[in-house]
Amino acid sequence: MGMQKHPGAALVTGSSGGIGLGIAEALAAAGHDVMLNGIEAEADVAPDRDRIAQTFGVRTAYARADLTDPAGVRDLVRAAEGRLGPLSVLVNNAGVQHVAPIGEFPDDKWDLILALNLSAAFRAIREVIPGMRTRGHGRIVNIASAHGLVASPGKAAYVAAKHGLLGLTKTAALETAEYGVTVNAICPGYVWTPLVEKQIPETAKARGMTEAEVKSDVLLAAQPTREFATAAQIGALAAFLCSDAAAQITGAALPVDGGWTAQ
Ligand code: NAD
Repeated sequence: MGMQKHPGAALVTGSSGGIGLGIAEALAAAGHDVMLNGIEAEADVAPDRDRIAQTFGVRTAYARADLTDPAGVRDLVRAAEGRLGPLSVLVNNAGVQHVAPIGEFPDDKWDLILALNLSAAFRAIREVIPGMRTRGHGRIVNIASAHGLVASPGKAAYVAAKHGLLGLTKTAALETAEYGVTVNAICPGYVWTPLVEKQIPETAKARGMTEAEVKSDVLLAAQPTREFATAAQIGALAAFLCSDAAAQITGAALPVDGGWTAQ
């Protein structure tokens, strides 16, 4: 297995921090030019954008875009291709969480989570597939979750969206299998990021626990290794899925969850 011909340009949604930033770094380390995205102002992301470009000798750019808006998804893909050229990699990573029992689950949170965690991925895939098909090469990685495979109380919208994302992954994989395009999902367990930090008080309230109990008895209790996964570990798998060596992996849902979903 030789070096990849030309790694090409990658778009990673929700990569201003957390797991998305780890994925962007791993793709840059593999030689991809990378378009970063998030809802933060450009000035906040510029240090990471410039550091990645300098460290790995690739081109990087950042586009602020709200992907709950269908036009935001379309404009982001166009901006990425305009800045970096045709996309060989799309990573759908942007996502949000809200924890509350179904009886108290607010409509606006349900709509937000479905729009960002599921519909935005559908729209971005729809946007990039024609070009990837024409070029006979493409890699799409959807960041789902252990919650794409199993459920937890209080996470109705998130679990529904992530299970849906796995269905979308399989369908897109079948539709592109003959064209050199692979579509896979990574299912992380708990990774220490702002998304996890923010849900600790919400989960404590929803389950009537202290925040310390949430961390030890809910978060780490789910993972037999009793350790958080890291953004770099998710990034390493994403970069592998984007390599030529992974050409026969498609339609898969790959857990990085310390054994959570083996139980
Ligand atoms: P994070 O909160 O650290 O980062 C979220 C990213 O999404 C940021 O870049 C933010 O700018 C972006 N974002 C938020 N709203 C957006 C919007 N409307 N439009 C565009 N971008 C938006 O989150 P994270 O923990 O790094 O999670 C990243 C992905 O990994 C999510 O899909 C999440 O569901 C998934 N995941 C996380 C964990 C975990 O334990 N942290 C576990 C499993 C799956």
